[in-house]
Amino acid sequence: MAARLTPYGDDIVEDDDRGSPAGSAGTTVQAEADANEASFLRVLREEKTWLRTMVDQVSDYMFVKDTNCRFIMANRAMASDLGFESAEDLIGRTDLELYPFPIAMTFYRDAKQVMRTDKPIIDQEEFVVLPNGSKRWLASSKFPLRGSTGELIGVFGISRDITERKKADRLRDGQAQVLEMISSSAPLSEVLDCLVRLLEDQLDGLLGSILLLDEDGVHLRHGAAPSLNPEYTRLVDGIEIGPCVGSCGTAAYRREQVIVSDIFTDPLWADFHALAELGGVRACWSTPIKSLAGKVLGTFAIYSRAPKAPDPAELRLINDTARIAAIAIERKQAEEQIRFLAHHDPLTGLPNRSQLAKCLDKAIRLVTPQTPRVAVVFLDIDHFKAVNDSFGHAAGDQLLVIAAERMKAHLRASDVVLRLGGDEFVLLLTGEAAEPANLQSLLVRLRAAISEPVEVLGQAFHVTCSMGISIYPQNGEDADTLLVHADAAMYGAKQAGRNTFEIYSPLRADESAPNLVLLEEIRAGLARREFVLHYQPQIDLETGEICGVEALVRWQHPDRGLLAPDLFIPVAEEGGLINALGKQVLKMACRQAQAWKLQGLPPVTMSVNVSARQFAQRGWAEQVKGILNRTGLDPHALELELTESMLMRNVEQAIATMNDLCSIGVRFAIDDFGTGYSSLSALRSFPVSRLKIDQAFVRDVAEDSSGRGIAEAIVSLGHKLHLRVIAEGVETPEQLAFLRQAGCNEAQGFLIARPMAPSDMAARLGTAFVFPGP
Ligand code: C2E
Ligand code: CA
Ligand code: CA
Repeated sequence: MAARLTPYGDDIVEDDDRGSPAGSAGTTVQAEADANEASFLRVLREEKTWLRTMVDQVSDYMFVKDTNCRFIMANRAMASDLGFESAEDLIGRTDLELYPFPIAMTFYRDAKQVMRTDKPIIDQEEFVVLPNGSKRWLASSKFPLRGSTGELIGVFGISRDITERKKADRLRDGQAQVLEMISSSAPLSEVLDCLVRLLEDQLDGLLGSILLLDEDGVHLRHGAAPSLNPEYTRLVDGIEIGPCVGSCGTAAYRREQVIVSDIFTDPLWADFHALAELGGVRACWSTPIKSLAGKVLGTFAIYSRAPKAPDPAELRLINDTARIAAIAIERKQAEEQIRFLAHHDPLTGLPNRSQLAKCLDKAIRLVTPQTPRVAVVFLDIDHFKAVNDSFGHAAGDQLLVIAAERMKAHLRASDVVLRLGGDEFVLLLTGEAAEPANLQSLLVRLRAAISEPVEVLGQAFHVTCSMGISIYPQNGEDADTLLVHADAAMYGAKQAGRNTFEIYSPLRADESAPNLVLLEEIRAGLARREFVLHYQPQIDLETGEICGVEALVRWQHPDRGLLAPDLFIPVAEEGGLINALGKQVLKMACRQAQAWKLQGLPPVTMSVNVSARQFAQRGWAEQVKGILNRTGLDPHALELELTESMLMRNVEQAIATMNDLCSIGVRFAIDDFGTGYSSLSALRSFPVSRLKIDQAFVRDVAEDSSGRGIAEAIVSLGHKLHLRVIAEGVETPEQLAFLRQAGCNEAQGFLIARPMAPSDMAARLGTAFVFPGP
């Protein structure tokens, strides 16, 4: 006992023993002194008792260690947390007997430091693991302790339990970290994992798990369960919710918290005892995770290995965590929604153009030596614009949805359908489907499926599609090249009459591609004045004299020589350059006619072809008048050739434009007559002076009687309408003879002369054609 120095114990006991001088006879003085000492000792004893009581009442740890760091005093709080019945049991021990080694060493070093430096350590945070396994955070202060003569006795320490505060700090920090993860779009699985770990850190010995409710609203999927038995987690994944499906299945079903404090007695777990045993769990409290709008997103569950009900603090924590989980899940779903919208077409739900390269890369990765191809199919609905224009966008949209569904239905899940926009789709076919034999039959079936009749908004439709195909790797290795080639092939399919498909061929590429290069060349050619006119004479069938010439445009191409109009007029029309080209042509023709007149050559009518776009262009009549003015040509010498369809497109405007120009003397001819379907009575309304019988009928006159009948009918019709009639494309003397006999007024064609350069034409003006003899 004496070896154990305790300031509040033994030495006072020793004093007590020492100071009892029983039996000495005393004087009054002595008696008084004795009485004094007795009362002093009583006071001391009482003081000792109070102090002991106070020290033991304090919930903080208090202790004194000697210079060798052995306990010479400890209070009850400390002793009981360290697993001792009485404080006495701690005396003489060192930290090494009480704490894990690293913790004990820290305490040893701190005590030595205080004694060596003679300076206290104030409020230092310490982490300890108690013998029962519980973890504590302490704020400790340690002071050097000196005896009455000033010698160093040891260290006095006091430690306050700050575990709750530390937990609250960690919870706050942890939640902040989770929110930070949510806001920086960390993967949902990581966020949920972090959230569950945070909760497990707060609730000693309990295990957490999060399940997510599937889009179908029926199945629960694994979300996070970092500490549960993985086999248990695997078996729970995909479980169907219901009124009696453990804690989570039921919580999601009932949309309310389900507390099962003993799995083996609760009927909700009746079917899942084996599962619980596998997981080693006995209690499970599950809380539905709900969106702001109240939709169930999943469940948040806490498991205990022993039967247990939650306390209010645990419930609070669980509810807070479920709320954060809801934010994480909702946010992720919103992000997914946004990403989906950015990458998909909202109408059909198909991936959009932005996904093309990615999808193609994916398809290319599926290529094997046995199936080495990817087919890129560019699909375009024929005449879709007409549907939209005539029946409205709602009908058009619905038609596209149906077409998209049919495409998907005819492809395997591994093939991809994308919508590029409008009525354009791209299909990416891999594996067997991309092999030539299968591809053909697949596309035939697809085409047939698309052209099945559809009913949209009560209206029956029959649409067809055109497809162009390019093959990886033969026709290109990247999305751009393959798409351009598939598009070119599609253009070819359209040209071939639509409702068909065409596989890209580099040889045909030139003719099939919508030639942007050519368009640029035309633009440059216009600027460089590379377009020239050739002239073809028209003769009077009574006299053989040249009564007119038709101006026919040619392109003096710097590399490719003289090009015929068929090679560039359609492109110029499509690409919006026809107005500029038409204006140049009209100027050249008028200037030429005026030049011939000034040269004193016999007067002829100058016929100039006009394209539909030019004719429909605002201010075109003014443009013609301006050109006549500037070139000085007499308007009576100019004839403009229009086709029937140009007149019929907008009858009133056509009449107005023509009347405007007729009023100054310009005349109009109807070109390619017979190929359109204009009604005879309609023709009466237009100020036309000539009909040009199309080459097709002229060709036929020598062949059979029906061809002759049509030509004769046109001639007589023209005459009834007081029009002159000219035959185009006259190539043989037989044709010419027939036309003369049928009463046709004029003729033009290779038999008489091919279109020729202006100087050749000038030389011919004034000469007469000699009709071949009978
Ligand atoms: P088009 O107006 O029907 O012109 C008549 C075409 O028939 C010319 O072809 C001419 O060379 C050709 N031709 C003339 N006689 C015969 C013949 O006996 N047999 C055959 N087989 N063909 C004959 P070209 O010059 O190649 O012009 C083709 C088309 O290009 C023209 O058909 C016209 O639609 C258009 N075109 C020509 N020049 C212009 C122009 O300046 N402006 C516009 N907008 N179109 C033009
Ligand atoms: Ca013509
Ligand atoms: Ca013609």
